[in-house]
Amino acid sequence: MASRRKRLKTNVDGPFFVDRTCIDCDTCRKLAPEVFDRSDEKSRVYAQPISEVDFVLATRALIACPTASIGTEDKSLLTDVRSAFPDAIDDGVYFCGYTSEKSFGAWSYLIVRSEGNVLVDSPRFAGPLIERIEALGGVEDLFLSHKDDVADHAAFHERFGCRRILHAREIQPDTREVEVQPTGTDPIRLDEDLLMIPVPGHTEGHMVLLYRNKYLFTGDHLAFSAALGHLYAFERFCWYSFDEQRKSMKRLLDYDFEWVLPGHGRPFHAPAAQMREELARCIDWMAGS
Ligand code: SF4
Repeated sequence: MASRRKRLKTNVDGPFFVDRTCIDCDTCRKLAPEVFDRSDEKSRVYAQPISEVDFVLATRALIACPTASIGTEDKSLLTDVRSAFPDAIDDGVYFCGYTSEKSFGAWSYLIVRSEGNVLVDSPRFAGPLIERIEALGGVEDLFLSHKDDVADHAAFHERFGCRRILHAREIQPDTREVEVQPTGTDPIRLDEDLLMIPVPGHTEGHMVLLYRNKYLFTGDHLAFSAALGHLYAFERFCWYSFDEQRKSMKRLLDYDFEWVLPGHGRPFHAPAAQMREELARCIDWMAGS
C-alpha cells in the first residue's frame, strides 16, 4: 500500500492518492480514467471517486498497480476487489490485473478454453490472482511475447506446470530453462485456434499471438494511443529496429482480427475490416513518425 508520507502534492484532497513511487506505467489511468490522470510524469488523483462504479474502478487500479503506489483511507472494497482479477474482457479472454514492476506494469491476459488455458505474458505472482486462475482451470501454456514481459514466469511454471514459450532470440539467463524456444520469422501454429507470429522490431524475437482470428495479443509491438487517436508503435522504446517493426506490421495485414490487446497502451476493438484500415494507417504513420 502507498505511503501517506510520500503522497504527491498533485493529488486532490480525499481518500485516494498516488505516492511518489509511481513509475508512470499508465495502468490506473486506463482502468479508472475518471479518477486518475497524468501530471509531472506520474499519475495523480485529479477527481476523487463519487459514484460506486468509479470507487470500484479506483480500488481495482490500486490492486493492479505494479508498485503499490496508490493508497486509500477507505478500504471497504479492498477485500472484494482483490479477487476481481482475472477480469473478463470478452468471450473467454481476461485481463489479469496484478501488473508487475519487473515488466514496467505491462498487462497480461488469460485465455480460458477447454483445450487448456493460455496465460499471455506474466502478471505478478499474487495469491488472490493465483487462486482465481486455479478456479478458472489453471495454465497450460505461458506465451511470452518478448524478454521484457517475463516477470514471474518461473513461479507460474512451478505452480501450474505450464509450458513456457519464448522466441530463442529473447532468451536471457533467467529464461534459459523456458521449454519452447521457437526460431525464425515464420508463423507457428500451436493448434487450430492459436497462431504465434514473429514480429521483429521492438525486440529481435518479439512475437504476437493470434487467437481464433479475433484476438491479437501484441505485447509491445502494437497498441492504441488515446493521445494520437489511432493504432501506433513505440518508436522511442524500440530496442531493435523500427524499420523491421514496420515490416512486421505490414505482415499483420495478412490476418483477420478484431481486438488488439497490448502490454502497454490501450486495448482496441473494431470490426476486422476496420481493423485492417486502422493497421494500414498505423503503417503509414510509422513511415512518417
Ligand atoms: S498504476 Fe501505479 S505505477 Fe502505474 S501509473 Fe498508476 S500509480 Fe503509477
